[in-house]
Amino acid sequence: MRPAPPVSTAWNFSAGPGALPLSVLNHAAEALHGLPGAPLSVLGISHRSHWFTDLVDELEATVRDLLAVPDTHRCLFLQGGGSLQFSMIPMNFLRGHHRPAAYIDSGYWSHKAIVEAHREGPVEVLWSGRAQGYHHLPREADLETRRLHAYLHYASNETVEGLQFHREPACHPDTPRICDMSSDFLAYPVDVSQYGMIYAHAQKNLGPAGVCVCLVRDDLLARCPDGLPSMLDYRNHVRMRSAYNTPPVFAMYVVLLVLRWLRDEIGGLAAMQALNAQKAQRVYAVLDETPAFYRCRVQPANRSLMNVAFTLPSPALEAQFVEEAESWGLYGLQGHRTVGGLRISLYNPVTLDAVQALTDFMHDFRRRTA
Ligand code: PMP
Repeated sequence: MRPAPPVSTAWNFSAGPGALPLSVLNHAAEALHGLPGAPLSVLGISHRSHWFTDLVDELEATVRDLLAVPDTHRCLFLQGGGSLQFSMIPMNFLRGHHRPAAYIDSGYWSHKAIVEAHREGPVEVLWSGRAQGYHHLPREADLETRRLHAYLHYASNETVEGLQFHREPACHPDTPRICDMSSDFLAYPVDVSQYGMIYAHAQKNLGPAGVCVCLVRDDLLARCPDGLPSMLDYRNHVRMRSAYNTPPVFAMYVVLLVLRWLRDEIGGLAAMQALNAQKAQRVYAVLDETPAFYRCRVQPANRSLMNVAFTLPSPALEAQFVEEAESWGLYGLQGHRTVGGLRISLYNPVTLDAVQALTDFMHDFRRRTA
């Protein structure tokens, strides 16, 4: 086997696709030339092979193990990213249902989910932070808990604005919670029994784009209406064990490498959570030292540990920040194109060393330009 080429060590703070662990990148590079236990490249192996069936088995077992997923939930690996789930969820669980779906409008991504749900059936937006420019989340008392809904949809982490729920929002005990965890999945332990469904695309904590992990409870699957397009009916993916059509084998393989890394090198979700808290604490501490220079609008209680969004006194200074950061080897710091500003993404694979390099730069930049 040819040796894997060296992988770039630039620090990646991009919001997605984002950083991946170096050991994962090296294993992925090796697998292009030949897989451990199979004679072929990962790019050419059949999804009908035993190797692939074993891959799905191990993927599912590892997700179940890391999150202690109860037997009530199926584990699927789908395509179409987080965005397709915005449509599949109301198609499968709202279409023909006798109650409206409840949504929380807490930022750019949860808003997109609402737009898609409206196409399928009645939607009640229980709370919206849109008019204030999405810089805080609802308090417990702001939410409706007396009425039953088809489900309650929310995003646990708003990637664009840098807002994160630090506990699941309250709802009626019989309303299934459906959560978009695309940007904080596997960053901390979660009690999956509190959810009807959790979904998360890869390209942040989980691996490269192309796969979306869905944990769906059986009682929701029993609601799927007949007559949906086959690819959009969750039941077909359950029946075909995530290989209803040709799946993204390479992306799934890299997700498995990331899951093994999380389990074996990090030590699981509690250890990951502690590390993530440390990283975020160091970055917010720099912002809080000079709040007139590094300006963060997010209410402190709702700050995201994954995406730190902030601005500088002028767009020109922000452009200078991004340019100079790159010359220090620090990449991916622009804010989302819809809001501008700056954003530091601290996904699982971002190391404490990377954070140290970034905070050194931030101190230096402020001293020179403030
Ligand atoms: N939900 C969240 C929270 C996201 O951050 C994103 C994309 N960054 C999406 C959904 C959409 O995902 P995709 O691009 O995979 O469709």
